[in-house]
Amino acid sequence: MMKNPAQVLQKNLKKVVKRKYDEDYIKYGFSWCGDETAPRPQCIICGDQLSNESMVPSKLKRHLYSSHPSCANKDKHYFKRCLEQNKKQKKFMKSAVTISEKALEANTSINNYRV
Ligand SMILES: [Zn+2]
Repeated sequence: MMKNPAQVLQKNLKKVVKRKYDEDYIKYGFSWCGDETAPRPQCIICGDQLSNESMVPSKLKRHLYSSHPSCANKDKHYFKRCLEQNKKQKKFMKSAVTISEKALEANTSINNYRV
């Protein structure tokens, strides 16, 4: 029996949909890592990476409450501070700057070419 093409398409679309990181998730102690189009939630406290499917408040909250009950009452300012410290330690910032500089160079040369 042939499958209904519309059904197949719907199935494929469902697979492609990725959850996006919301700035608000910082209050659950989560940042993100990996691909921007399919970010993975990353715990700011322990560095654990969850799957993209776990990018929902209920799952992030569950990790925070079960793994870090002592941080469950912290506000987003606390987690933001932790995140800043993590970034400094891991030198995330340096590589981010290098990438944007390269992007800037590429843009500049395209503009020059146009002129
Ligand atoms: Zn954690």
